[in-house]
Amino acid sequence: MVAVKTPPPREGRDRAMVRFVLLGTGSSDLYPSPWCGCDYCARARDNDERDWRHFSCALLFPDVLIDCPPDLPHSALRAGVELFKVRHLLVTHSHHDHFSTDPLLLRRSVLWAHKTPRTETATIPELSPLVVHGNAKVMERLRAFLKELGGKYDLRLEGNKLKPFEPVRIDERTKAHPIAAAHCRSEEDAFVFVLERDEFAILYATDTGWLSDDAFDYLRQFALDLVVADATFGIAPATSEHMNLEQAREFRERLLNEGILKERGRFVVTHLSPHWTPPHRLLVSALEPEGITIGYDGLWLVIERA
Ligand SMILES: [Zn+2]
Ligand SMILES: [Zn+2]
Ligand SMILES: [Zn+2]
Repeated sequence: MVAVKTPPPREGRDRAMVRFVLLGTGSSDLYPSPWCGCDYCARARDNDERDWRHFSCALLFPDVLIDCPPDLPHSALRAGVELFKVRHLLVTHSHHDHFSTDPLLLRRSVLWAHKTPRTETATIPELSPLVVHGNAKVMERLRAFLKELGGKYDLRLEGNKLKPFEPVRIDERTKAHPIAAAHCRSEEDAFVFVLERDEFAILYATDTGWLSDDAFDYLRQFALDLVVADATFGIAPATSEHMNLEQAREFRERLLNEGILKERGRFVVTHLSPHWTPPHRLLVSALEPEGITIGYDGLWLVIERA
């Protein structure tokens, strides 16, 4: 099968806009689950490519990445985005499907290429610096990774420790707000993020169960244009760690009722598990009439000034 690569939507000439792309939309099982022979996973293998989901991560095009799962190079390639343009990586939490140092290690390829110059005239661009923003556990993992390299390569990585509800300005146009997620709370500070760029605001909220009152209080300062929310458990019961489709629907209602999500704002579900979430095609017919977009890998979400 020939993969469908979707190029980034063009920027309008006079109109302010931001582009946000879902690179991966699967849960930590992957979708289908590679070692599973159940009928759901078999069906997903046979279905269209929208049922092949990489680990969840997303890009505020072209330079702010949320999460760095082990299969990031493949999901980025499939979505048609270039990781060398990424300057900031925001990490939700340390679980293996959200933060792996393997894709970061691949940065050494550029250093190797510089050591052994090519004979052609075209030069190889320098490796651009990348700031990794994350909780204490993510910073610890980053430090251990750099220590293990023993200074052998300068991967141009810098760490910035985030604390819940303490926003960081990451460039002139962009501010990131780490908000406490309802996820692995006894082990680390997991975050959902609001990203503000120009006049637009996006909430990216996986992995999380139903958010705390503190989180809702914090969210009241925004009028969101786009929400991407956890619906891991699909049609099965939700847990304190992850939402299901019913809770995602309630979450959207609440955000709309409180004016946190703009009336014309989009609401998209992600982090879907093969064992509890029906195929994309069925979800679309059930939920899109209600205003819920079913995320899939390579889905571009464009927000423009009305
Ligand atoms: Zn996850
Ligand atoms: Zn299965
Ligand atoms: Zn997790």
